[in-house]
Amino acid sequence: MSIVIKKSFPFSFDTSACSSCLGNCCIGQSGNIWINKQEIINLSEYLNISIKDLKIKFLRKKLYKYSIKEIQLSKNNFACIFFDLNKKSCSIYEQRPQQCKTFPFWNYFKNNIEEVLKECPAITKL
Ligand code: SF4
Repeated sequence: MSIVIKKSFPFSFDTSACSSCLGNCCIGQSGNIWINKQEIINLSEYLNISIKDLKIKFLRKKLYKYSIKEIQLSKNNFACIFFDLNKKSCSIYEQRPQQCKTFPFWNYFKNNIEEVLKECPAITKL
């Protein structure tokens, strides 16, 4: 059991709960999974494909930024294209973007705790 608590966040996060979760933070309503320039370079090396191919196959451009594509599973239900639906885990875990690494400690959730409580079984309100 590994409980993470961060200053000014009104919840704790038990990382050991991730192994029994079916990937709620990678599946659900459509959203942006931002990936920065250095992360794109690292991921292209990790996947052994060119940056151009990575962008075409796996990313979508939103103004001047890139977000990872999603696949639609059902109405209002999407999965990150890198989520392995059979293994129920991230297929690029070592190179997942910072946004994923820092979940659930996003400023947005400080004031929207009910939203993350519904989504993530690893979270306990403090
Ligand atoms: S990159 Fe990995 S951790 Fe991030 S949303 Fe996609 S599957 Fe989940």
